Amino acid sequence: PSTLYIVATPIGNLADISQRALTILAHVDLIACEDTRHTQRLLSAHSIKNKTLSLHDHNESYRQTQIAEMLLEGKSIALVSDAGTPLISDPGYHIVSHLKNNNLNVVPIPGACAAITALSASGLATDKFTFEGFLPSKQGARQKVLAELNNEPRTMVFYDAPRRAIDTVKDIVTVLGPDRKIVIARELTKTFETIHSDTAGDFLTWLEQDPNQLKGEMVLIIEGYKADPNEISPKAIDTLTLLLSHMK
Ligand code: SAM
Repeated sequence: PSTLYIVATPIGNLADISQRALTILAHVDLIACEDTRHTQRLLSAHSIKNKTLSLHDHNESYRQTQIAEMLLEGKSIALVSDAGTPLISDPGYHIVSHLKNNNLNVVPIPGACAAITALSASGLATDKFTFEGFLPSKQGARQKVLAELNNEPRTMVFYDAPRRAIDTVKDIVTVLGPDRKIVIARELTKTFETIHSDTAGDFLTWLEQDPNQLKGEMVLIIEGYKADPNEISPKAIDTLTLLLSHMK
């Protein structure tokens, strides 16, 4: 049947794409993408010639009708984003939900995703994690998000801009404390790939010593909250206070 393929593309290294993805990109009637020039570079690296259609957050509602109509006409379309898996902090959600609501066929073609790539080599717990998307760029909002996650026991994965890395790590020190372990995975699959782990406090010194760390793209991973085994819980303190009051 005519299908919308959700095709993951590389996050840097153009070779990180599956055979199946390349075959689909070569054979669909149309490729819906974010930046047509960016997608053309990927296509020409793999000697694929095909038509592209630009898709942005601001024209997504118009495109969803257009794409649904094309599927009903029997065409197949691939949806790609500039990097990684579409819909993951990228456009496509409205289209996919519209097509699913109309019982049209949507097939995922798996591949790179910066969040999962970073997590897999972070050294932090991977059994349970949460993906938190982009951290807010303003300090107040960022500190609020971090404060709400203070007691989150799962590993937390964020997208952030390296130029804000020092401000972000300072906020982590302020809100979550200097001992919280963090990992920054920068320029994944590219020439200057760096995956650095340290406690938030020591991370600042490292970042401030190397301005190159503030360039490119990064994933930030924060270790989940671990209760201090020596800490007495507020509930236990309440019980003890009550017991003491009866002993007087
Ligand atoms: N859909 C993409 C995915 O599956 O990872 C994410 C798109 S989002 C608009 C772009 C963000 O992903 C960047 O700001 C950065 O946080 C992260 N990212 C993308 N490529 C990366 C790379 N090569 N290294 C580190 N982070 C990357």
